[in-house]
Amino acid sequence: MHNYGSVYLSRYLIAANWKMNGSPALVREMALALSLMKQASLDLAIFPPFPFLSDAVKAFAGVASVGAQHVSEYHEGAFTGEISGSMLKAIGVTAALVGHSERRQLYGETDALAGQRLVNLAKQNIHPILCVGETLVQREEAKVESVIFNQLSALDALSDGNECQTQLTIAYEPVWAIGTGQQASPDQANEVHEFIRRCIRKSYPSFEPGLRVLYGGSVKADNVRPFLQQPSVDGVLVGGASLSVDGFLALCTEALLVD
Ligand code: PEP
Repeated sequence: MHNYGSVYLSRYLIAANWKMNGSPALVREMALALSLMKQASLDLAIFPPFPFLSDAVKAFAGVASVGAQHVSEYHEGAFTGEISGSMLKAIGVTAALVGHSERRQLYGETDALAGQRLVNLAKQNIHPILCVGETLVQREEAKVESVIFNQLSALDALSDGNECQTQLTIAYEPVWAIGTGQQASPDQANEVHEFIRRCIRKSYPSFEPGLRVLYGGSVKADNVRPFLQQPSVDGVLVGGASLSVDGFLALCTEALLVD
């Protein structure tokens, strides 16, 4: 794993995307279990559904950051069902996912919308995790790099404005590996992570010093280690395997054991 001389970047980030799952009980049980782990070598971030965010901020204090799975591209007004960056900030949320493939596929999130959402998060100093990844057809057509390059263009919105965001996380999540039980091989993941780093270095160099690149797609305790052993993998974004306290703890324990 890259160590750029900063404590922040030398630690793995293990991020848990609960999607539309979980309960107040899961918030309490996961927070208790993670606090009893008493580990100080991993950065943990939990992304529960909106209704549980406030409780999660309190329950995970000192144990994990708490993030939202979505943020509006607007600031306020007649946008039924939407949540603004300032609302997230007001309840102590410190991170948010942007451009998750489910948002892209099911709710029409475009790169332009992702860009506006990144700006709204930056205005509130909320840490973004921008998700990128290709479909199986795009991989078979050898379009992985062009797809990722286009998805990274959401960052143009940040570079164009006056937003000063020093820390950026990109999650590489091949769409064909999300929730399917299939994973990219650790080598394939590392190759794409290297490509993402090259793109950031070339087109968005101000983000390079604070960049972390996560892998996501059917990661669980028994397959996480080879991903984390790759030089360009700074952590993982975990969906299904983050919904069981025992499973997530086992995954974190594996991460702690990586040399
Ligand atoms: C995700 O949705 O970000 C994800 C990686 O899901 P899963 O781990 O279930 O594939």
